[in-house]
Formats: sequence, C-alpha cells, structure tokens
Amino acid sequence: MIFKYASRIENVKPSAIRELLTLGSQPDIISFGGGYPAPELFPIDKLNAVFLDVMKENGTKALQYSTSEGLLSLREKLVQRMVNTGISCELDNLFIVQGGQQGLDLVAKLFINKGDIVVTENPTFLGALIAFNPYEPEYKTVPMDEDGMDMDALEEILKANSKVKFIYTVPEFQNPTGVTMSLERRKRLVELANKYNVMILEDSPYREIRFEGEAILPIKSFDTEGRVIHLGSFSKILCPGVRLGWVVAEKEIASKLCLLKLAADTQNSTLNMYLADKFMEKYDIDEHVQSIRVLYKEKKETMIQAIQEYLPSSVSYTNPEGGLFIWMTFPKYMDAAVLMRDRLVPEAKVAYVPGAPFFPVKEEINHCRISYSSMPKEKIVKGIASLGRILKEYC
Ligand code: PMP
Repeated sequence: MIFKYASRIENVKPSAIRELLTLGSQPDIISFGGGYPAPELFPIDKLNAVFLDVMKENGTKALQYSTSEGLLSLREKLVQRMVNTGISCELDNLFIVQGGQQGLDLVAKLFINKGDIVVTENPTFLGALIAFNPYEPEYKTVPMDEDGMDMDALEEILKANSKVKFIYTVPEFQNPTGVTMSLERRKRLVELANKYNVMILEDSPYREIRFEGEAILPIKSFDTEGRVIHLGSFSKILCPGVRLGWVVAEKEIASKLCLLKLAADTQNSTLNMYLADKFMEKYDIDEHVQSIRVLYKEKKETMIQAIQEYLPSSVSYTNPEGGLFIWMTFPKYMDAAVLMRDRLVPEAKVAYVPGAPFFPVKEEINHCRISYSSMPKEKIVKGIASLGRILKEYC
C-alpha cells in the first residue's frame, strides 16, 4: 500500500531529537534534557481538595461539554491577570487552549500560507517549528545576544521580504537559550512590526517564573494596532498535565482562532478548567508561583556554581534570570549530539538536549540545552561534574 499523504506532510519529519531523548530517559541517567517542571512542586493535596469541591459543587457541569472559548469564570480571572501585567484585555480578547502549544498550532493555521515567511529567533523553540511546519512556511532567523533579537538584523529581514506573516518570539527566559528580550527591544519590535505591517506572536509560558531581576512589560502591552498575539500557559505555574493555556488577541482574530479550535478539539477538558478555576479561587496561585521561583533559583544557582567549578573555560553558557534552561556553547569543532551519544551517556550517564534542531535554517552543532528544573540538587552537581570530566578529555 502506498499511502497518499497530503503534500504538507513532506515538511513533517521525525525529529532526530526523539532518539536522543529516549537515551536520556533511561532510569539510571541524570537527564538535563526534558524541560519538565519540578514534580515536587505540583500541588497534589490542594488539587485533590479542589477536585472534591468541584465534584460536590459543580459535578454535572464539570463533566459536561462547555464552550470553545472556555469556562467563563476562568477566562475572567485570566483577563484580570493579563490586565495586571499591563496588557489591555477584555473578555472577548481571551480564550482558553490546551496549553500554549495549541495556541502555536492555531495561529499557524490561521495565518500561514505555503511559502509565507515566519521570522524566528535563532535558535528558537523546537515545539513551535513542529507546530508551524505542516503549514509550509519558510523561515528567516534573527541572531540574538543577551538582550534578545538583534533588531537591526530583524529590520533588514523585514525590508527585504514582503512575505513575512509574523515574528515569533519567546521574550522571557527563552526556550532553549534562557535569554530575555530587553524593554527597549520590545518597544522597537512593535515599532518594526507596525512599520512593515507584520504580526508578532509572543509566546510567554515562562513569564512568571522570574527569580532574579525586574519584570519587563510584555510585548503585547505596547501593541496599539492589534498585531500582537500573546500566549500564556498553566504548565509552568500549576502543572502541564492539566493542558491549559490561553490566547490574548484582537477580538476578530480571537474569534477566528476559536472557530479553528472548535474544528480541532471542540473545547478543553471542562473538568480541568473547573479545577484550575477553583484552585485560583480557593488558593493564592501567586503564592504557589513564588514557591516555584524559590526552588528554581536554588537549582539554577547550584548548576551555575557547578558549571564554574567543573567545566573547562572553552565552554560558554547563559545565566538566566528565570525559566528552566541554560544554553551551553562548546568549541566550534565539537558536535554536542555525537559527544552525548558516544561519550556522555555511555560513560557518564548524563544527558542534555543537543542544540542543532533548535536552528530553523542553518543548524549549529556545538550547543546544548541544559535544564535544571527537574533534577535534585545533588544530581545537578554530580551530573555537571561528570559532564566537566568528559569535556576536559574531549576538548
Ligand atoms: N512555548 C514554549 C517556549 C515552551 O517552552 C513550551 C513548553 N515546553 C510551550 C510553548 C508549550 O507549553 P504548553 O503547551 O505546555 O503550555
């Protein structure tokens, strides 16, 4: 049988990263690979209590279909949170999705025609590329430094390419680099989007996980023309298993995205929306987020100290003020995937995510993404010490 797939599937290739993640998932491995939140932070007892409340107070509603936009009282709470961060937002601007990942897919479905250009940071979030690829865009990439995208380079791209549909950015503690876009660049980004008439997709799942420095206003807060779509998520502030996120967009765009959501999955789990809503009603989610920040700060500091102690000076690394990730750069001649497969996993039982798949156009092989979120501190030290030993031999 020859399967006659749609031509768009030609761009959907199994990711080389899967095989490497499988290597990292063996039980005896210290894995800095998956960007999973720390499981000890999941508020299991509180969610248990919330579940009982929901069943008692709203059982039949929570087990019934609801609307594509999502539970009204949860949307109202999220609108208020958005307003508190400086985003001008009303109820019709916001709807609930199955995690930020669904927001990426819906935006791609609404905006990308085959051959349209999507501009991304270089490197960028792999899950976004996986969401965009079936809609057959071409990519242009913008180099980054410690303040995020290089805006002059971005302007050159916008000047030279009339088919740019949107600029995709993860402005806080970016996955994979941990880099945050500065305030000045956020303002310039919106100015450029206005000047060249393109959309901005602001993907902000880590915004609230800031454990150092000052919060920076979201890009959406500078939007005067309705061209910024903002994505938020419960995955890092509550738990990813509830699969809940939200989209903030111009009303016309939000209603079109909601129609696409209706086609994709009708709605999010009513039960999970009730759980998140009741959790926010009964408990102080900001207090919970604060406990997440405290733990990640400790873990990040432990990792940075271990890096300073054990890694050779030829390795450079980012030092994020929040989020889950550090980005490491090895000397140019080194291939991080080969090092992991041939030496690191078999000899040191340590894994990370090799950086190459995070580059949409021209892969760079000498980077890796290291997450400090889910490993206990003693394993962070042990794993980095082993990485250092192997790197010193290899460099
Ligand atoms: N965007 C970025 C930058 C991410 O890192 C992630 C999670 N890894 C997501 C979106 C999707 O997260 P979720 O669907 O769990 O909200």
